Amino acid sequence: MKSVKNFMKVAVVLGFLVFGSSVLASPTAAQEGNRQQQGTFVYTVQPGDTLNAIARRFNLLPTEIALANRLSNVNLLFPGQQLILPAVSPQVTAVPPTLSPGRVDQTHTVQPGETLFTIAAAYGVSLETIILANHLANPDLLQIGQTLQIPGSSPPIPEALAAPFAAIELSEPTIIQGRTLVIRVKLTAAATLSGDFEGRPILFRDSGNGQFWGITAIHAMTEPNVYPIKITANLANSSQVTLFKEITVVEGPYGQENIQLDSERGGLLDPELIRVEQEKLDNLWSQVSPQPYWQGAFWYPVGLDSLRITSNFGTRRSYNGSSELTFHAGADFGGDIGKPIYAPAAGKVVLAEKLAVRGNAVLLDHGLGLFSGYWHQSQLIVAVGQEVRQGELIGFIGDTGLATGSHLHWEMRLNGIAVEPLQWVQHSIP
Ligand SMILES: [Zn+2]
Repeated sequence: MKSVKNFMKVAVVLGFLVFGSSVLASPTAAQEGNRQQQGTFVYTVQPGDTLNAIARRFNLLPTEIALANRLSNVNLLFPGQQLILPAVSPQVTAVPPTLSPGRVDQTHTVQPGETLFTIAAAYGVSLETIILANHLANPDLLQIGQTLQIPGSSPPIPEALAAPFAAIELSEPTIIQGRTLVIRVKLTAAATLSGDFEGRPILFRDSGNGQFWGITAIHAMTEPNVYPIKITANLANSSQVTLFKEITVVEGPYGQENIQLDSERGGLLDPELIRVEQEKLDNLWSQVSPQPYWQGAFWYPVGLDSLRITSNFGTRRSYNGSSELTFHAGADFGGDIGKPIYAPAAGKVVLAEKLAVRGNAVLLDHGLGLFSGYWHQSQLIVAVGQEVRQGELIGFIGDTGLATGSHLHWEMRLNGIAVEPLQWVQHSIP
């Protein structure tokens, strides 16, 4: 029975392969006409959903959803995954094409870091306009230096930046609460960079040729609004140039749940125990190791048979009916006691011990202020100071600590702020 069940799960995942051949289906006139232009919209994948089915439901092209979410593997949609539905992003809807005079056909040369989505947004045209005008067989495979025809576009407004700044690019100029933001800066003169978002420093990495990148966390409870990111170039002659780049934070699609704890486990909610444990973790994940240990996208920390999300990151939570609202700081994977947990990326073990609330807990340092935590394990098999490789066994799923059942709580922290861990699996950051 077990092997049949496993086969079924594999089949469900592989079922999404059907999607591949119809990626480039062109939109019908009806689809174009019916397209709703509302605010940014986020959709939570339901059991049995395919990218094709979701695209049909919202009158979008599968490619648009894939590009907007930078899905590296469109076959691996899973229930609970959150997708940004792009046709409704503010950049695209800001200027209705028919109202904009002086629209011309232009060409665009693809620059490093650009995607079809960012180019379409910059010119105020739809993705399919570019895909169709250029007969793009695979819109995921843009080449740097490639020339694209942009029909009926308004010229992008160049940003006039003070030297030494040549460009500042945000991975998501409109970003959902709880996500990680990548900031790319290009400089025309030798300088070091420092940054600040909401009082937290941003560490910039020099990637050569005057190009820098930094990452920062958008807190899951950030009030939706426009916020400035402060970026300062410190020049060799000890002068400084500071710029502010605006980011729009929008509300996440986070549900709400009340968790009932029985008196035995509920007793663990002693405020002093919670405080001591929190302080211990805060002291650890506020550290910043100067080098990144991770490279490329993270893997899931569980095997295929435990790839079932039972509670999403960001869910607003209350305990035993209390009016005090917190949020779920990680993603929960359901799984039987003893199922393996793997390091999703290279890192260093900075905590491996039994905690009152989080049970048997392991915290990995991935460098640059990025950490990942694995709570409620059945047993601890790694030790503080140990370096782990991507995919290495680091523990086993359990129900220790304040857990209502056997599961892995996987949490990621950037500069102490909990961020959506699945974003790190879906995208290679930076
Ligand atoms: Zn959890």
